[in-house]
Amino acid sequence: MQVKILGSAAGGGFPQWNCACSNCARLRGGTFRGSARTQAQLAVREPGKPWCLINASPDLRSQILCDPDLAPQSAPRHSPIAAVVLTGADVDQVIGLLHLREFQPFQIYSTPAVETLLRSENSLFNALQQTQPQVDWKSIEPGKPASIQASDATELGLTLTASTIATKLPGYSERRSIADVSSTDTVIGLQVESPGGAKFFCAPALPVLEQSWIGDWNQCDAILIDGTFWSDDELVRTRGGGKFARGMGHIPISGPGGTLERLAKITRPRKIYYHINNTNPILDEESAEHRAVREAGWEIAYDGMVVDL
Ligand SMILES: [Zn+2]
Repeated sequence: MQVKILGSAAGGGFPQWNCACSNCARLRGGTFRGSARTQAQLAVREPGKPWCLINASPDLRSQILCDPDLAPQSAPRHSPIAAVVLTGADVDQVIGLLHLREFQPFQIYSTPAVETLLRSENSLFNALQQTQPQVDWKSIEPGKPASIQASDATELGLTLTASTIATKLPGYSERRSIADVSSTDTVIGLQVESPGGAKFFCAPALPVLEQSWIGDWNQCDAILIDGTFWSDDELVRTRGGGKFARGMGHIPISGPGGTLERLAKITRPRKIYYHINNTNPILDEESAEHRAVREAGWEIAYDGMVVDL
């Protein structure tokens, strides 16, 4: 199984168009030791099989164009991308679906809550339903393994098991409460397993961390975990106000209860931080924070990183 990290940044990317934080300003000025990053996007496949995307980033069009493996392989129209799995309904996880609207059949896997939020509140996504057959939405139920298929029922050789992480509504939702959504699993983590038994877990947004998950994650070959913020007050300090990391649904990396501390006992899998915000000091390869993460055994995702499992 091959996992490609097509994009490794949190929403806004790095640099972010309207951000002049120390990281963004130094990157623009050519004095930053570290690379620009597009918004978080994974692509997964078994050798010889079509690709499955995990989420659909706002940068998806350019991410596809940058990778020859994702180019059409036959005329007149074709895509090696057969399915998209959504781990939530936030703008940064779904807006790329609109880049895939060119009458191309593919499958979308999400919880019923995510499908409801997208299809009932956002008529723009009807662009994916203009012909038959075009896009087919499939439900995934947390805790129940599902095998991923293409529109023509070709098996992709990937089994995914979702786990409920949170039930929060995305910021754009007109609903006043989660009770309005028929099923309440709006933020999920995903375990993806190959027929050969290789498996990885990914969660680009981790608002909580249950002790009971850690044992399962330690059985994986890789975990790709929310690396949005280094500290809880990172954005407040940078912007002079606003929300704390935990208030935005992201456990920070550092500090008491941070992921560095909580996941220290995970030793078997490769541990990779992705979905990294442009304000995060771990992006600076000369920073003490970057060094601390690396010395704790974590890898820091970058665009184009390939994880073979
Ligand atoms: Zn910035």
